[in-house]
Amino acid sequence: MRICRFNDDSLGLVLGDTVADVSSVLAGAGTVPAWPMPAGDWLIKNLESLKAPVREAAKSARRFPVDEVIFRSPVANPTKIIAAPVNYLAHQSEVNADKAVNFGTQVKTIESAGLFLKANSSLVGASEGVRLRRDDRRHDHEGELVVIIGKRGRDIAEADALDHVAAYAVGLDMTARGPEERSLRKSLDTYSVVGPWLTTPDEVADPDDLDLTLCVNGEVRQRTNTSRMIFGTRRLIAYASSFYTLYPGDILFTGTPDGVARVNPGDEMFVKIESVGAMTVKVLP
Ligand code: MN
Repeated sequence: MRICRFNDDSLGLVLGDTVADVSSVLAGAGTVPAWPMPAGDWLIKNLESLKAPVREAAKSARRFPVDEVIFRSPVANPTKIIAAPVNYLAHQSEVNADKAVNFGTQVKTIESAGLFLKANSSLVGASEGVRLRRDDRRHDHEGELVVIIGKRGRDIAEADALDHVAAYAVGLDMTARGPEERSLRKSLDTYSVVGPWLTTPDEVADPDDLDLTLCVNGEVRQRTNTSRMIFGTRRLIAYASSFYTLYPGDILFTGTPDGVARVNPGDEMFVKIESVGAMTVKVLP
């Protein structure tokens, strides 16, 4: 099942090359909480019980062509965006070989660097585009598999980790290069792109065996399989939950492979992950 938020916060079910507007199920739900909102994303928390009404509503819903809708971030209100730093060995090698990327520090892998957080205000959907700031910096693409947490949990065992997944999505962990902490350089407005939709786990046989490709202006820059991650999806969830309580809608960027490189205004990024989806994201002029 592929669920999206599109245009003016409409709820969509993606069916082939069309998006069915199933927003009516939200009006029928009638339980969207008022202030103070409980932690976590209401839609993701209730996703399981909304699936049947969404399927039913889609039968008579108005449909839009996929390439004519504006995809917003499919998660509206995460409590946090967690990200894995160097989680592919080939990416560690390229970072440590390039001063324009490492700024004189030898970069460690996730095993000693742990995780970091990106600001929620950096979150956008695929159609919203990335707007570069700080002209004095190099800005890079990082294509990544994204995990959306479905239910609250802490100290989650690796064996149970996938039970906590609501969906997968395609992600871009945009990065300004420089000597500062990652959370500063990766939290600029629009620097966390998630989309184009949520793909539920029944469509993804194994999150740790997915081909990932990123192209810029049609040229392949990153290509890997998620089996090459140092911490696989289960271990990432377990590890994150040993530090933070995870809430419905929390977003986990799983790390990028080698091939990171600069983007410029006007570029068009295309990221595709097997079984999950593909999104085109513009670098705004
Ligand atoms: Mn990254």
